[in-house]
Amino acid sequence: VGSADAEYVLSLIRTIPGFPNKNVLFRDFMPVLADPKGLATLLKALKLALPVAARDFDSVAGLEARGFLFGPALAASLGKGFIALRKTGKLPPETISEQYTLEYGQESVEVETNAISSNERVLIVDDLIATGGSANAAAHLVEKCGGKVAGFSFVMELQGLGGRASLGSYPASALVTMP
Ligand code: AMP
Repeated sequence: VGSADAEYVLSLIRTIPGFPNKNVLFRDFMPVLADPKGLATLLKALKLALPVAARDFDSVAGLEARGFLFGPALAASLGKGFIALRKTGKLPPETISEQYTLEYGQESVEVETNAISSNERVLIVDDLIATGGSANAAAHLVEKCGGKVAGFSFVMELQGLGGRASLGSYPASALVTMP
């Protein structure tokens, strides 16, 4: 943890063992939002933690659902727009989608066809990176739409699951790293 603000955010994160299944330590960041100073502190810390290489971007894209809880606030506080990367079947307009494989079965993420313009530099956000499957699918989706991935900003990074390495050369930051 790199700063007093990140430390404060970490102090609010709740760990729930055994959810959604026996071997998982669920890392719940909802208490950050419930705290009166939590979201403001989180945004400040996320901005500070952004890798220099990822600071030049046009918009913020958030992954459903927890990327929707702070992505728009981060975007607005930087004078940028927000793009919703949704689970399949939620968007009425025409969409572009990207499939990815989870431990059990297939998952997919989609975005409105015209949500991203050509060469738009997109910062992708989510609450947590574990294996990196969702983050990579989001990156491929942005690129499929003609955009460029400026980088990633996560609140939490789980160690030992290869998520960070799976992002290759994309710049990425996480406020806190946990087992
Ligand atoms: P992954 O695609 O494996 O990097 O998983 C990241 C996605 O799954 C994020 O959208 C997280 O919200 C969710 N996730 C995975 N593992 C956990 C965990 N231990 N606690 C909370 N959320 C998790």
